[in-house]
Amino acid sequence: MTAIEKTDVLIVGSGFGGSIAAYHLAAGGAKVTVLERGPWLSGKDFDHDYLLGSSYTKVFDFVAGDGMSVLGGNCVGGGSVVYFAALPRAPKYVFERHGSIGRRMWPASISRKTLDPWYDRVSEVLPVTQQDWNDVTYAGGLWAAACDHSGHTANPVPVGVDAKKCTNCNWMMAGCRFDAKKSLLMNYLPAAMEHGAEIRPLHEVQKLSRTEDGGYRVHYNHIDEEDYRITTGSGQIEAKIVILAAGAGATPPILQRSEDTLGAMPHAVGRYFSGNGERLNTAIINEERVAEVLGLQRPNGKAYEANQIGKGPVVACWDFVDSALPEYERFSMEQLYFPPGLGTILAQAPGATGPSWFGKEKKEILKQWKSWLTIFLMTEDDNEGVFGPPPPTGNAYRISQQMLARGPLSYDPTPNTRRGWELADAKVKEILEKDGLAKVMPWTNDVVGAYTVHPLSSCRIGDDPATSALDDRHELRGHPGIFVTDGSAVPCGITVNPALTIAALAERAIPGIVKAARERGVDVTYGAPLPKSISTSVARPAA
Ligand SMILES: Cc1cc2nc3c(=O)[nH]c(=O)nc-3n(C[C@H](O)[C@H](O)[C@H](O)COP(=O)(O)OP(=O)(O)OC[C@H]3O[C@@H](n4cnc5c(N)ncnc54)[C@H](O)[C@@H]3O)c2cc1C
Repeated sequence: MTAIEKTDVLIVGSGFGGSIAAYHLAAGGAKVTVLERGPWLSGKDFDHDYLLGSSYTKVFDFVAGDGMSVLGGNCVGGGSVVYFAALPRAPKYVFERHGSIGRRMWPASISRKTLDPWYDRVSEVLPVTQQDWNDVTYAGGLWAAACDHSGHTANPVPVGVDAKKCTNCNWMMAGCRFDAKKSLLMNYLPAAMEHGAEIRPLHEVQKLSRTEDGGYRVHYNHIDEEDYRITTGSGQIEAKIVILAAGAGATPPILQRSEDTLGAMPHAVGRYFSGNGERLNTAIINEERVAEVLGLQRPNGKAYEANQIGKGPVVACWDFVDSALPEYERFSMEQLYFPPGLGTILAQAPGATGPSWFGKEKKEILKQWKSWLTIFLMTEDDNEGVFGPPPPTGNAYRISQQMLARGPLSYDPTPNTRRGWELADAKVKEILEKDGLAKVMPWTNDVVGAYTVHPLSSCRIGDDPATSALDDRHELRGHPGIFVTDGSAVPCGITVNPALTIAALAERAIPGIVKAARERGVDVTYGAPLPKSISTSVARPAA
């Protein structure tokens, strides 16, 4: 019989929740193994292309559910490789939300004040910088000027991007070829590797079982690097501590599939999913009116002609991120660029008399593509997403060799969620249609339901065992030694981009995880200095 491999701490997924845990536990002296389902790409591997087989299709995971589709990262570094790196902190009121759960959704021990020191740590490591108006693209300036024209404020967002290296090339979602985006490949992950953490790409975890000594056995499949539908092998690793950080769309199926071997899961596993109340609106800008009313014109000689091409989100209006407003009426409005493909399909023709997302009138607005401006809304939803039975492997039924899949998530938006969307849609319309600046329409939900790039809450922390799968130390109730540190732990939608909050919560969870590891016999300490950010994304070590 072949001996089963052993490690101290097994981490599933290498995004924010996984990388932060990997660094601290490895730096503290534990043997750390990270299993990551996606490939390991870095620097020059990132293509400026949307073709099948480019980095874009390799590092993305688009999972269509019933009423909600989730877009996420599928690679070493997780969402940090594909994301736009807008990194605001959650507003204070978020921590007091009750939603439809009927009680404070966050554990009593967490507020904005108690989370701030953890935000500070992540902000120093990534690092997060505040953009100023000189960093803002034409599209961001246009959004800011339109907000101002309507009596609203708008400001540049804090980001994890090195402005000196950014070429404004617009290919953030395919991975940053210039290492301007400070993904996890440039901070926590290389620092974890320096301390001996082993990161294994193309290893998809399927389920957990128990070992006789109170630890866990992690079962994985090895995935083909071109066709993710093909399994090229499988294996098991035993660990004293398991940290699940596969993302809010993938952690629940792993735990649900493990029920046969681990025993019953807390009720909240795979329930209370939040899509962060997301919504996109496309405005078709009337260039002449913008020149007349706002006095703006795109400068000549710019590399790109289209309004929306450039960086990710640069300017946001936070006037409705306001604790004085009632729950479900608070939202943020962020200008961002979304590349062709899904965005082009889901955009609707404003004022269409026929079909709005396809057909003749859609064809007309496609011709005006250079004048599109996309506004991203993050509202308060009702944690109404539920995961059905897990697929036979992974988090979804793979449809194509890369990128596309169909998953078990269903989402039926409540009247609260719908009203939040309506209010936010109406505000964008009011701002951008004032004095004929633009015509605005939200993206359709008819094709893939609602959509989110910020999946959250499918395995929540909380104080109430009935509605939270994890206690406030992120330990899975009834399964000591299993922790969850990804977006699924965040209790609810937060009305702003969540990566910094996911990361701050992961930082906060580490001392408790180290303590649990010590109690399970792992020789590990907490307190290593924060990792330094490096200038080149770390490549896969040669075999
Ligand atoms: C296009 C886009 C733009 C975004 N822009 C922003 C932004 O500007 N600001 C912001 O705050 N957030 C942004 N986000 C969201 C942000 O990327 C996520 O909130 C964040 O990465 C979530 O962190 P996580 O730790 O929960 O999971 P992830 O970062 O998603 O990491 C999970 C990892 O686990 C891996 N995995 C999944 N299943 C398995 C398995 N079975 N076995 C092994 N590994 C597995 C995945 O491949 C992935 O690498 C964006 C996301 C997208 C898609």
